[in-house]
Amino acid sequence: MRADAIRRVVIVGGGTAGWMAAAAISRVIGDMPGLSIELVESEAIGTVGVGEATIPQIVLFNKMLGIDEAEFLRETRATYKLGIEFVDWVRPGHRYVHPFGFYGLDMKGIEFHHFWLKGRSLGDTTPLDAYSISAVAGLRERFGHPRADQPGSPLSQLAYAFQFDAALYARFLRRLAEANGVRRSEGRIVAVERAPDSGHIAAVILEAGTRIEGDLFIDCSGFRGLLIEEELAAGFEDWSHWLPCDRAVAVPCAPGGLRQPLTRSTARAAGWQWRIPLQHRIGNGYVYSSTHLSDDEAAATLLANLDGVPLGDPRPLRFTAGHRRRAWIGNVVALGLAGGFLEPLESTSIHLVQSAVARLLTYWPTRQFDQVEIDRFNSAHITDYRDIRDFLILHYKATERADTAFWDYCRTLEPPPGLAEKLAMFRANGRIFREGSELFTETNWLAVMVGQGIVPGGYHPAADLLSDAETLSRLDHIRRVVAETATLLPRQDAYLATQGCALA
Ligand code: FAD
Repeated sequence: MRADAIRRVVIVGGGTAGWMAAAAISRVIGDMPGLSIELVESEAIGTVGVGEATIPQIVLFNKMLGIDEAEFLRETRATYKLGIEFVDWVRPGHRYVHPFGFYGLDMKGIEFHHFWLKGRSLGDTTPLDAYSISAVAGLRERFGHPRADQPGSPLSQLAYAFQFDAALYARFLRRLAEANGVRRSEGRIVAVERAPDSGHIAAVILEAGTRIEGDLFIDCSGFRGLLIEEELAAGFEDWSHWLPCDRAVAVPCAPGGLRQPLTRSTARAAGWQWRIPLQHRIGNGYVYSSTHLSDDEAAATLLANLDGVPLGDPRPLRFTAGHRRRAWIGNVVALGLAGGFLEPLESTSIHLVQSAVARLLTYWPTRQFDQVEIDRFNSAHITDYRDIRDFLILHYKATERADTAFWDYCRTLEPPPGLAEKLAMFRANGRIFREGSELFTETNWLAVMVGQGIVPGGYHPAADLLSDAETLSRLDHIRRVVAETATLLPRQDAYLATQGCALA
């Protein structure tokens, strides 16, 4: 065994980030000789209490933890998610789906959307959504698992995620982590001790006087960044210029309306409202810019737009878009809200926890804490945030909305250079490129660029390898296969019942 191995890991915070980290680390390296993992949380402080919609990578995370999906669905009162429906984002009355998975079928070695664009130039007005099994099934409240054994079926391309109760998810992960040997301590951290020579964190002190020593501290303490910011002053890169929404008001309501396997995002006067249908309730919230809307107006709009009776009082939340300049300093690594925040428009925060935990495991340190590895971790952290930021800005920038000062601000905003190039490339000939290992793929960019109403001037010239008639006939065939396949899927309610879920 390495003499400089980390022996004591202390996770500060028991929200989604803390328990995800505890469950994953204990699962992957918990058996390392001499390693102990302790998580400290304070029930009196509580958690942020939101964060219920995810993206397909969560399925891999759950698999890595050895989670049985049916048990997970029951315990967290989860539903399936096939994408996000965007309502009124381009203009009031407009809607589209950003689905998981792919569109249509690539042909002649060229991406499908070039044939769709060619079809448009020939007068075919079928929306892109019609070529996505996730979009079509999602809108019809239907769900089925991907079928890798049916390579010719659109079901082979289906990808899915979950919507779950955040508190129940943390509890579920806690059980897994504790079964893997993670120790939990309850109490408020009131002081931090530093090692005089290295400046590293040596211990945290609880209100009751308990001293918890560690070699590696994982800061999952939420927005405040108890260790990374309050103690180590990492600094925060503020992106509110690009993403001006800085508040949210959230309230769950009783189930009502459609139970589509979709998260819904409805554009409002100064931001947007989420709707996340779970088995027993619907999560709702209005994310808005406090420069453009008062808290009272936001709460009133939210309450006026629920599908069921509210199950509590609206809860206010404040945040700033951006990230810690350094997520890892010395022996402290910040995950979750302690590492940064991007609004939940594309449900990316939980994924950011997942990818940071994976990266931490890749660069699992010794007590030497090699700076070159820390630098690498930090630059990857920033790249993750920047890539997602640009994708989020796209939704606000590419709009026709000019009905409020908020939308005027967003529509006329100068985009960051990376986004500007992506927009120009797509507008010219429908070209999409993915930068490095950015989270959102060409298909994600396609969905939102087309969805937000951007119309390319042309298509890939090689789409003319198919004649006009052949192009239209193949498009027609693909959309009929997608529609028929979706119709054969069970309703999500029925599907959840087969997993033992009792829906409200
Ligand atoms: P928290 O939940 O705030 O947990 C912090 C923990 O630290 C708590 O256990 C607290 O008790 C503890 N703590 C703090 N100080 C101390 C102390 N002094 N002593 C002891 N313990 C302490 N993400 C998504 O992926 N999808 C979504 O749909 C989504 N929606 C969101 C909507 C909103 C409005 C917001 C604000 C966020 C949303 N997120 C979403 C983000 C998601 O909620 C968070 O990424 C996730 O919950 C992780 O939070 P956390 O664990 O980092 O912080």
